Amino acid sequence: MVLAAARTAFMFADNDGDGFLDYEEMKELMQRMMGNDDPLVVVEEVKRMFCLDDPLGGCRSNLTYEDFVLLLNECSVDSALFGSLLQFGADTIEVGVEERLRGLSGASSAAVPRESSSHILDDGSPAWRESIEAAFDLCDETNTGQINKDVLDGAVLKYPLIAQLLRVPVDVTPDDRQEYMRNLYDSIDDNHSDFIDRAEWIRFFCADREAVPRPTEWDEEREDCHRITGFIFDCDGTIYQPDGLIPGAEDVLTWIERSGRQYVLLSNNGALPYSAVYDKLSRCAFECKPDGKPIPPGCIYTAHDSQVDFMLSGHLPTGSKLLVLAPDEQWKTEMRERMPELFDSWEIADDMDVDTAKEWSQRAKDEKVAIVFFHDGVIAQPWSYGLIHAMTILINAGADFIYTAEDHCNPSTDPLYEGVIFPMPGPGMFVEMLKNSMPPGTGGSQTFCCGKGGNVGRTFMIDRAIQMLKAQGHVGERDRIVVIGDRFDTDVRAGVLAGTKSCLLESGAHRLEMADEFPTDIPSYTCKSIAKILPQSERLRKAEDLRRSRAKAVSKNSWVRAGSVMEGIVEPRESRRAPSKNENKRRAKKLLKRACLGRPHGV
Ligand SMILES: [Mg+2]
Repeated sequence: MVLAAARTAFMFADNDGDGFLDYEEMKELMQRMMGNDDPLVVVEEVKRMFCLDDPLGGCRSNLTYEDFVLLLNECSVDSALFGSLLQFGADTIEVGVEERLRGLSGASSAAVPRESSSHILDDGSPAWRESIEAAFDLCDETNTGQINKDVLDGAVLKYPLIAQLLRVPVDVTPDDRQEYMRNLYDSIDDNHSDFIDRAEWIRFFCADREAVPRPTEWDEEREDCHRITGFIFDCDGTIYQPDGLIPGAEDVLTWIERSGRQYVLLSNNGALPYSAVYDKLSRCAFECKPDGKPIPPGCIYTAHDSQVDFMLSGHLPTGSKLLVLAPDEQWKTEMRERMPELFDSWEIADDMDVDTAKEWSQRAKDEKVAIVFFHDGVIAQPWSYGLIHAMTILINAGADFIYTAEDHCNPSTDPLYEGVIFPMPGPGMFVEMLKNSMPPGTGGSQTFCCGKGGNVGRTFMIDRAIQMLKAQGHVGERDRIVVIGDRFDTDVRAGVLAGTKSCLLESGAHRLEMADEFPTDIPSYTCKSIAKILPQSERLRKAEDLRRSRAKAVSKNSWVRAGSVMEGIVEPRESRRAPSKNENKRRAKKLLKRACLGRPHGV
């Protein structure tokens, strides 16, 4: 609880939102915390904080959150800082907002640009709104749903953090302070009813949603979109759905090729290499031939490939011990071909009992031990309780956890339910399970996610894709490259992390209205589907071509048919109707589906 309060205090005190507390910010916080104590004592206390235990032997110029928490550890329990935080935490529990603060403590305060007109902590995230609601509950002690002037004044005196939230000036005369509070109160009470209700409170603090950057609709003919020349596409939900290619995908790739731009397709599939995607895009309902030709070499890469590269990059030294869960042996073949000596030096297990895990865990301090997932959510052999137990032991002993993606679900279809997309477990579901078993505070240093949006994926997937674009002839900085995909937490995040542009397509897993769930994954652009990536003029030209070719086909068919009827080759339409072109198309599509599907989730 004290830690949650410390986190909140740190966030509130960090006036400029740079993630550090400088001397002035700390002094202001301490003045609030220590109330009417002698200002000299405050100054002394702050000086002590900045000069205590500095690793370089001098005084720090600012404090990180970690420094702040460490200092809190050093504090005696009767110090002002510790006492105030404890009081704040206890009062918060009393009014029943413990849960909300807990949420706040886990909130990300990543660098989202904010305008000076909004509160510096207003990153537009659900956590900000929750903290504002928690502050309302804190003031409204009697649960009336309303705050009057006296109640607000009382809360400001009682809770230093409410004073911080309201930006009440510290070093002013009591009259000026009252004047400030009066003006502030009138600003929040916007219907002048002489009390503040919850809606007014939230409107005041959360109203400036424009402070958070919003993605703009992709329009290729606008200058900022037109200058983009490198395209990195996600596959599932972007280029294809479980039942075939998404309309427009082939046209977009054709336009990119013909206009001298470059593209790469990235699949987050952890089970299959790039060659499987090439294969998929050459058959049946998935066939994709930009400009009438197969997709050229050097344009496709998967999370599986990225993970193979990562594992061979030196991260796993000779003699490493690996528990690898994979659907097949393909990864072994690839690695043995590329680095046979290193591969043969590894001790590899594809299942494990608890006794072996205990034995490995004892060697984890001196030798590299890792759990590796190559599966894409489909578990080839049933996982026993013993295996999960064994993995928990290894993870807790500090084993590395290497996996391809954090997608919680994958889409699938069933010929019995035409047009319905069913979810099936993705790798992320199992990744979360193991992450939950890690000791607190160790997760970040032992996990390695190699796919899009992952910590290692930034180098091994996106940087690799950028190299592939360059190899095709792409020139220009990263702001001329866009990552286009259907998920905030993989595709958009990959673009944000790599410093390229990003575009959310609403044709797959995520919709723009889910943006609040991903406060730090803010795309540069949005677009309904891949077909809309084409410039407007190109789409009109295509529509016109289609209309002409249809008109031509109809008139040709009717002449041929009329001639045949006259010559008695076919019977007139009334007596035996031939299947229409659309009916034929529908039949062909069904046959194709039957031939191509049957496998639930491909690549
Ligand atoms: Mg996708």
